[in-house]
Amino acid sequence: MAKGLTRVPVREQDPKVRATNFDEVCLGYNKEEAMEEASRCLNCKNAKCITGCPVNINIPAFISQVKEGNIEEAYKIISESSALPAVCGRVCPQESQCEGKCIRGIKGDPVSIGKLERFVADWAKENNIKPAAPAEKNGHKVAVIGSGPAGLTCAGDLARLGYEVTIFEALHKAGGVLSYGIPEFRLPKDKVVAEEIENVKSLGVKIETNVIIGKSVTIDELLQEEGFEAVFIGSGAGLPMFMGIPGEQANGVFSANEYLTRNNLMKAYRDDYDTPIARGKKVAVVGGGNVAMDAARTALRLGAEVHIIYRRSEAELPARVEEVHHAKEEGVIFDLLTNPVEILTNENDWVTGIRCIRMELGEPDASGRRRPVEIPGSEFEIEVDTVIMSLGTSPNPLISSTTYGLDVNRRKCIIADEEFGKTSKEGVYAGGDAVTGAATVILAMGAGKAGAKGIDAYIKGKQE
Ligand SMILES: Cc1cc2nc3c(=O)[nH]c(=O)nc-3n(C[C@H](O)[C@H](O)[C@H](O)COP(=O)(O)OP(=O)(O)OC[C@H]3O[C@@H](n4cnc5c(N)ncnc54)[C@H](O)[C@@H]3O)c2cc1C
Ligand code: SF4
Repeated sequence: MAKGLTRVPVREQDPKVRATNFDEVCLGYNKEEAMEEASRCLNCKNAKCITGCPVNINIPAFISQVKEGNIEEAYKIISESSALPAVCGRVCPQESQCEGKCIRGIKGDPVSIGKLERFVADWAKENNIKPAAPAEKNGHKVAVIGSGPAGLTCAGDLARLGYEVTIFEALHKAGGVLSYGIPEFRLPKDKVVAEEIENVKSLGVKIETNVIIGKSVTIDELLQEEGFEAVFIGSGAGLPMFMGIPGEQANGVFSANEYLTRNNLMKAYRDDYDTPIARGKKVAVVGGGNVAMDAARTALRLGAEVHIIYRRSEAELPARVEEVHHAKEEGVIFDLLTNPVEILTNENDWVTGIRCIRMELGEPDASGRRRPVEIPGSEFEIEVDTVIMSLGTSPNPLISSTTYGLDVNRRKCIIADEEFGKTSKEGVYAGGDAVTGAATVILAMGAGKAGAKGIDAYIKGKQE
């Protein structure tokens, strides 16, 4: 390809080496590489990339600064819009967002916007550059439920406007899925997640962990007794789904959430921690999304032979192309057009295998994807000792069932408007996975921003 059409390649750990460790797979750009990649940007007047970014980062402006080597300026531009650039630079599905709209992508590779964002955020951390200081406190108190990307973004934006913000988090550690779900080898916890949470705290945001809203205290109590004028709910969608097939209750069957939480949040993969984890020898992961890839690659690093079992074909895999590519490179086996019908167990109810049936693709279903149809008589068994179910999650109904007047839909997702996160209950706003069901970090951040705007307008409106 002609010069300028291909992106500067990013360095990665060798697949054989990384399959045995939990260190980060992608090593990122250095300054020279970043400046070279930035020089591919055409600094478009009508920059389509910005329209693909749910938090509207001024992409050409920050890339222009990288091109000139002014990394501190680039960081200032990004942090006007995003509280979590080192996270987003690593885990956002840029190929379907900013990079998917990049004009460079018409004839060659789109600009590596995500890798440039990551470089800038890492450089800022190494050089101890912090986000701009918040405004003077305005004396108004707001509560945020959940410390995932939606809650952190909402809290950060409100703190910048002068609000006194307290985040209530059910777990012992802040970060939501960034801390308990996405594995260390994609998103380092101490180096990246904890640092970006510290940046949000440096704006004056308080985080109270081990507080379960709906049990420790209710939303109505926060509003009526604790002096909070508004509440933002960013409680995610952490309730795992199962298939309902025989054997699913057996020992050795896990939800991907439990498996990843033990590994990430409770550090089961480290020899200096006592958290138990199933170090299976042969593991089946059922599902084809990002979470399934994370569970599979985690099991692989713990020493197992790993099979992904997915009922459609490779073209329909919902995981990011990069994640599928990495999983294959590392040695994960893909059993596609395959669906489990039973989990097999021994007399002590431990998993011994999984019975599956072959599938073929029929007519498109409501989602537009071709419907998988069973091939009669094609059942077969795979010998495994561990099964990890990764079939999606839904919001936990605890908050909706303990909050008077808060409407949810039939999937238990809180009903909130997109522009301001306004719910059916006065003073209560919501966004992120709790509203949409399982989605992405950047959409949750966009919803956090919308909620902050809504709350600011609501509190100011009350004063008029
Ligand atoms: C394994 C995995 C991998 C993923 N990979 C990617 C990826 O590569 N790229 C991407 O963009 N997205 C990815 N996602 C999805 C993404 O992480 C989520 O869409 C995003 O984190 C949602 O943000 P949130 O703030 O709405 O919720 P969460 O991140 O789920 O945070 C919600 C927080 O609220 C807390 N909470 C819940 N109930 C209560 C309560 N009653 N009281 C107090 N606190 C409460 C929870 O403990 C949690 O900390 C992945 C998800 C998983 C599970
Ligand atoms: S669309 Fe691509 S080339 Fe144009 S400004 Fe955005 S990143 Fe640069």
